[in-house]
Amino acid sequence: MVTQILKEEGILSLSQIRREMVDLAGGKGANLGELLSQGIRVPPGFVITSKAYSYFLEYNGLRDKIVSILKEENSSERASERIKGLILESKMPQDLENMIYTSYDELSKMAGKEVFVAVRSSATAEDIESASFAGQQDTYLNVRRSNLIEMVKAVWASLFNERAIEYRKSKGIDSAKVEMAVVVQKMVNSRSAGVMFTLNPADGDPNFIVIESSWGLGEAVVGGKVTPDEFLISKSELKIIDRRISKKNLKIIYDPESGRNKEVIIQNPESESLSITNEEALELAKLALKIEKHYGMPMDIEWAIDADLKFPENVFIVQARPETFWSSKGRNGKQEAQREVTERRVLIKGLAASPGIASGRARVLMDVKEAKEFEKGEILVTKMTDPDWVPVMKIASAIITDEGGITSHAAIVSRELGIPAIVGTKDGTRVLKTGQEITVDATRGVVYEGKIVAEEAKQEVQKGGTFSGISRDVLLSLFPVTGTKIYMNLGQPDVIEKYLDLPFDGIGLMRIEFIVSEWIKHHPLYLIKIGKPDEFVNKLAEGIAKVASAIYPRPVVVRFSDFKTNEYRGLIGGEEFEPEERNPMIGWRGVSRYVSQQYEPAFRLEVKAITKVREEMGLKNVWVMFPFVRTTWELNKAVGIMEDEGLRRTSDFKVWLMAEVPSVIVLADEFSKLVDGFSIGSNDLAQLTLGVDRDSEILGRMGYYDERDPAVLRSMKKLIRTAHKYGRTVSICGQAPSVYPEVTEFLVKEGIDSVSINPDTVIYTRRLVASIEQKLLLRGRK
Ligand code: PEP
Ligand code: MG
Repeated sequence: MVTQILKEEGILSLSQIRREMVDLAGGKGANLGELLSQGIRVPPGFVITSKAYSYFLEYNGLRDKIVSILKEENSSERASERIKGLILESKMPQDLENMIYTSYDELSKMAGKEVFVAVRSSATAEDIESASFAGQQDTYLNVRRSNLIEMVKAVWASLFNERAIEYRKSKGIDSAKVEMAVVVQKMVNSRSAGVMFTLNPADGDPNFIVIESSWGLGEAVVGGKVTPDEFLISKSELKIIDRRISKKNLKIIYDPESGRNKEVIIQNPESESLSITNEEALELAKLALKIEKHYGMPMDIEWAIDADLKFPENVFIVQARPETFWSSKGRNGKQEAQREVTERRVLIKGLAASPGIASGRARVLMDVKEAKEFEKGEILVTKMTDPDWVPVMKIASAIITDEGGITSHAAIVSRELGIPAIVGTKDGTRVLKTGQEITVDATRGVVYEGKIVAEEAKQEVQKGGTFSGISRDVLLSLFPVTGTKIYMNLGQPDVIEKYLDLPFDGIGLMRIEFIVSEWIKHHPLYLIKIGKPDEFVNKLAEGIAKVASAIYPRPVVVRFSDFKTNEYRGLIGGEEFEPEERNPMIGWRGVSRYVSQQYEPAFRLEVKAITKVREEMGLKNVWVMFPFVRTTWELNKAVGIMEDEGLRRTSDFKVWLMAEVPSVIVLADEFSKLVDGFSIGSNDLAQLTLGVDRDSEILGRMGYYDERDPAVLRSMKKLIRTAHKYGRTVSICGQAPSVYPEVTEFLVKEGIDSVSINPDTVIYTRRLVASIEQKLLLRGRK
């Protein structure tokens, strides 16, 4: 029998909920209800209230059982395991189940078909703090009717995550008494989606709303995968002032079969027609105004149009946050900026490769030989960078290139240096002029005319990830311990100082090309020829030792050189030794050099430098890694040369190889017998698995270069499984986990041993990995 209370308050539609109903609907539910009541349309849904949760507990007699488990078990881990098990196994009372289905069926009726829903936890007032502390924010997406009840119970069970129990214990909150609500919301079946701003992002003008729109899910626009359609709408008249149709080459859609989002290439007429109607654009603008009023500040809003519903009920807001670029200037700065920028315009767009904002004078350099002209603080505009450019890049306030994708040299170096960079602009060197004042917004991939960055915003960017005034021990205690090691990528010995306070467990990739091109400057074979081989050995050893001693005893995985022939040619004396190859990217690079008669003497110098660091300087935390390995025979041969120089694998000297040519994955069992561990070079692995030049801005813009492609992910998974069979470790040092949290999640779930990421994502990744591991542990115990 349904009790009266359950009938009235067990389930509430979002439209019945208001801000003050946190105890019944939880924080999330109350907030969504409040937005709806203000006329801000969010996807329709309902809340299974805390009363319903209570009813479920009482119906199954769970309260007493929970109290006694909490008393019996000293370990929160065991308590969590047992209580979660109880909740998941208990029966959903029939009357409550009927009510949930009725509410769900109403959503389906509105849509005219069975809908997918998101099922989210919504913590009540008493528990909001522990919920956010313990990451107890379980959300299950794309849930169907058939697994709805199970997912609701899973969300309830998450109330008893181990860390939540721990946290409540420490605060004296009785876990047996806390309650939870569950929000069930229709997943938007996104026909079109995008972002909008309640000011003009090109110049900060608050009199306009700008809408960017494309087909399918909003990720295509947010992730910069397409050039979106654009609407400029005046706030005062709510009128469309300008409209631009773009060619949209792809869309992202949910694929129910695989249960994942996928990219689909689209053709004309779809690609070249407007992705929203004028009517929809104006409806969005109305919602934007309401949101700006509600929050009292300029907002950056994600929206979507639902294919299942009728206008205007199909126009939804999915996310709203304060706009930060223009708003970060403070009140005075903002006025000044607005006065200054009334006529600013977008000059060019590209791929956002290294986040940050900077203003300055552009300097267009077509050849590194012109580098002398470059002045500190200018913005470097060039075709593409290579190691010769690094000294210039170091003094630039931002970098813009015509070519290259997000794993290009320019992208990798800029991120390491913490300098904003936009790559793949196609014709930046033609459009931008030396001496021109420009602003680079490398978070969004846009270059504006004029100087529009306040000093403090610039400083913000340059601060990087360092903290001051706190001891490293205290600092580290603030970050979660993870089973998966969090390594950092670093090539430039000097910048280690800047990142010392970050919570990393070692350097998972030290690219020595930086030391060679900046410190040594000469080609190693040339130094041998002129009788100065020691110069190479000593400087290389010095650079490596600088990093290894700074972070001792944490390991530094030094990668033997991986210059390509065109890059080696740029070194002093290089031309004599380096052929001109048609495809240096798949040419004489990596191990193929070490085993060649011509380069072998230079490889021996690299080995000597490692020996010097380990033996003479006593830095036993230095390991090595072989790049661009293609075959087992060449690896055997190269290891043989290394051993011949006296460097052998031992328990404290690990030898890794980079898994970046697909042959290493295909023959993972054979390779496992030769080394201690692998590190996935996802930049090259994606390039070679998909047959996509990682520096092609054409393919990059079309979305072909994507480390998340199932073929690439499946290779990584296979490697982890095989390597583990042989007791070998697997790491990853390509850009993928620094850019895509979902890749990190995938790899952690597959059991990767470490991830090595860019300095700017160390903190974020450590937290992310901790939360994934926690979830895995708890799931595993079900
Ligand atoms: C990779 O290929 O993923 C990698 C880390 O090496 P690089 O980018 O230097 O080729
Ligand atoms: Mg590589």
